[in-house]
Parts: sequence; structure tokens; C-alpha cells
Amino acid sequence: MKHPLSDRINSLPASATLVMAAKARELRAEGKDIIGLSLGEPDFNTPDFIKDAAIKAVNDNYNSYTPVDGYAELKEAICTKFKRDNDLNYKASQIVVSTGAKQSIANVMQVLLNPGDEVLLPCPYWVSYSAIATLCEAKSVEIPSTIESNFKITPAQLEAAITPKTKLILFNSPNNPSGVIYSEKEYRALAKVLEKYPQIYIMSDEIYEHINYNSKPFSLAAIDSLYERTITVNGLAKAFAMTGWRIGYIGAPEWIAKACTKMQGQITSGTNCIAQRAAITAVLAPVSKIQYMVDEFKARRGIVIDLLREIDGFKVNVPDGAFYVFPDISAFFGKTIQGITIKNANDFALFILEKANVATVTGDAFGAPDCIRISYAASELQIREAIKRIKEALS
Ligand code: GLU
Repeated sequence: MKHPLSDRINSLPASATLVMAAKARELRAEGKDIIGLSLGEPDFNTPDFIKDAAIKAVNDNYNSYTPVDGYAELKEAICTKFKRDNDLNYKASQIVVSTGAKQSIANVMQVLLNPGDEVLLPCPYWVSYSAIATLCEAKSVEIPSTIESNFKITPAQLEAAITPKTKLILFNSPNNPSGVIYSEKEYRALAKVLEKYPQIYIMSDEIYEHINYNSKPFSLAAIDSLYERTITVNGLAKAFAMTGWRIGYIGAPEWIAKACTKMQGQITSGTNCIAQRAAITAVLAPVSKIQYMVDEFKARRGIVIDLLREIDGFKVNVPDGAFYVFPDISAFFGKTIQGITIKNANDFALFILEKANVATVTGDAFGAPDCIRISYAASELQIREAIKRIKEALS
């Protein structure tokens, strides 16, 4: 029987990253030896100095509702961080703390988008961007890229995608799933196009900011001409190994911040009080305190790339940040291996899951149907074993 669910939920795809993670968990519970390289989740513990701040908050009896937009001290700390790391001047009234960057993104889209508005998504993009746009009854417009263009879009492509209905564009650098980082020069060239279209708002998702291997990523809001219409999104999950703590935040024009607070006030209220107290310590900590994790991710990146390049049919670029590789595996499309015909990236990811017991995520979910995403936020041992199994299954 079809349950009487709303059109809204029926039209919403499930999150491919979370579905794959759940599937891996399920298979493990059945006794299968699954290596999970699907979820973007650091395999480190939250650093002790942050845990201590949380324990202190519990003992200090932080247990009440917090202001909907976050504790004043946390918002001040976030302003300090934006100035220190991004050369961005935000006042506390421009900050909203949310239950994860995902909620920050959902807030912004819900307060800006009307049905029929178009949202530009440079490909590849994180799975939930298009799903949240769907929830807002807005239309996602993909701007494609390939591994040959190092998964970046050009100013000409951007301009060609703009219509009178374009309301918002979402950038994410370092990028999930490709790991690519737009340079300041590349961002300034794209900004030149956006300057011609003042009706377009810009969301810059910088959640992977600290996980970079060559140079510090550039913040779009640091371009003066865009500051008044850019929303900078960030959070603690990736850099501080705090995925489950659920702390995200935005720096935005005050009127957008106020609208997000109103939205959040009706849906979740303020974010968890203990996590917010710990977040004050985390955002103010010098970046050097988490460098050991970034160094480890960098070493793993080298291992993953070297090993994947040994597999015939894998095209691999070198990501500058985040903890994903996004190989093009389209050379396998149309082939039959171990009796299974691989028509697309989804089939490929399922083949790898079934025959190699390795969980990855299909590129379709990220608007890049020739690729799969492999997260290397796993131990070196697991990475080596996973890629060995993939190679064997394909040979
Ligand atoms: N952002 C992470 C990922 O892409 C976590 C899962 C999710 O929220 O999608 O794997």
C-alpha cells in the first residue's frame, strides 16, 4: 500500500552518502567484511582539548536552551576566526550557529528561494545541495565539468547558465567530492561574471577549508563586490573530527542571518548547548593544533592515488584538499565483469560493493555520472586492502 506521504517527501531523493553508509553497516551486521570508503568522516577522535571543554560545560551546568542563533561568545569567536583565517569582517549579528553545516545550507536556501527559482550547481557538487533545492521547489541547474578540466567550471560556462530566474549559486572549495580547490585567480574570474548579475546570491561552502595540501583556500566573500550577497558556510565536523557534534555556522548579510534565525526558531531552536561551548574552544584554537590530521590525510592521498593509478581504466586527478578522490571510471561502462554488466557509475559502485566488499559512492549523486567517490578518511591499512580488493575484482 502506498502511504499518504506528501509530494514534498516523495520528490526528495535519499542522501546517497548516507544510504551507502547505512548499506555498509547493514552488510557488516550480516557478517560481511565491508570496508567503508563511502562516508566523508574523519577517522580520528575529537582532540582532547575540545572534549575537555565539553566536559567542563556539562559540569558547569550548561543545560538550558541557547539563543536560537547561538551563544554570544561563540558568535564572537566565529567572527574572530573569520577575520583570522579568511580576512572576512563579520559582526556577531551576521552569524548564525546551526545543527551542522547541512542545516546552515538548508536555512539559507529556504529563506532565499521561491518555487521556480534556479540554483546553479557547478559540478561536481555535494549531494544535498540539489535535494534541498528540490525541497524549496527550486530548480537545480548543473554546470558540468570533467576530470579533464580538473572538475572546474569556466567563466563562459557560468555566464551561459545564467537566466533571469537564477537566484543562487553554490560553490564548495575544497570540493566534496572532487577535492579540487578554486584559486583566488579562478574565483576572481568567475566573480567578474557575477558582478554583472546583482540579483544572484552566492553560497560559499568552506567546510573543508582546513584540509588543504598546498595553499590556503580563498573565500569568495573576500571579493568586495560580492561580500554583500555572499553567505559563507562553515562548521566543525571535518577539520576537528566532530561530525556527530553537529555544529555549523554562517557569516552572511544581516538580513539573511535574521531570516535564518527565524527559520531555525520554528524548526530546531538553538543548537546543542554542550557542543556550542566546546565549539568556542575549537574555533579559537590555532590551526596548528589539527595539523597532524591534515598531514595524515595528505599521506593517505598519496597512497590512494598511487594505488588507483595502477588499475587499468581508472583516471585519477590529484585533489588539493578534502579527503576524497573522484576517479573517472567510465572506461568500464559497457563491460561485463564476473557476469555483471556495468552500464554506469551506479552499477560500478554496486559491483565494487558486492565483489570487493568496498563501499564507495556513485558519481551520479554529485552530478558527475562518469565517476565514483572514494573517501580516504580511513586507516592506511583499510585503504590498501580496499584498493587491492577493487583491483582483484576488476581483473
Ligand atoms: N558530508 C559527508 C559526506 O559527503 C557526510 C555525509 C553527508 O552528510 O552527506 O560524506
